[in-house]
Amino acid sequence: MACPFCKKEHPETLEQALEALERGPHLVREALAGASQGELMAAEPKPGGWTPAQVAIHLMDTEVIQSVRVRKILAEEDPLLPAFDQNAWTAALSRGRDLSDVLRTFELLRKQNVDLVRGAGPAGADRAGRHPEYGRLTLRELFVHLSTHDAKHAQQIRRMRAAPRS
Ligand SMILES: [Zn+2]
Repeated sequence: MACPFCKKEHPETLEQALEALERGPHLVREALAGASQGELMAAEPKPGGWTPAQVAIHLMDTEVIQSVRVRKILAEEDPLLPAFDQNAWTAALSRGRDLSDVLRTFELLRKQNVDLVRGAGPAGADRAGRHPEYGRLTLRELFVHLSTHDAKHAQQIRRMRAAPRS
């Protein structure tokens, strides 16, 4: 069945997705390694784009939303799930963030979320909520879709750092 978010077929099982999600924060850390926080935070984004630090902030903030979604789905019946405008969030929420806290929080929230999904078992994975834009989403769909997100952004960070602005 096509993914409600991206309309693609995701071949991963939920367990494969959870394993990828456990590795994800490490990929992001590796992509950021070797640059100082000051350097990463001070970089000016390309017009309409993000800096490597903003990509990390986007990943942590996505995990905040995912944290609310998984909790509502497991604890409530047919909950309305929060949506967010990722460009507006990144533009408004990039200042004053400590990148090492951002990465640590991303890792901790991610582990909590993976633990919650594992703990909920197959019956939990079939529970669902309503997204204002994408409609009914099961926990399985939410986490399988998210499973390639970190790797995509880690690649994006590597590309940015390989091609510094002139
Ligand atoms: Zn998807």
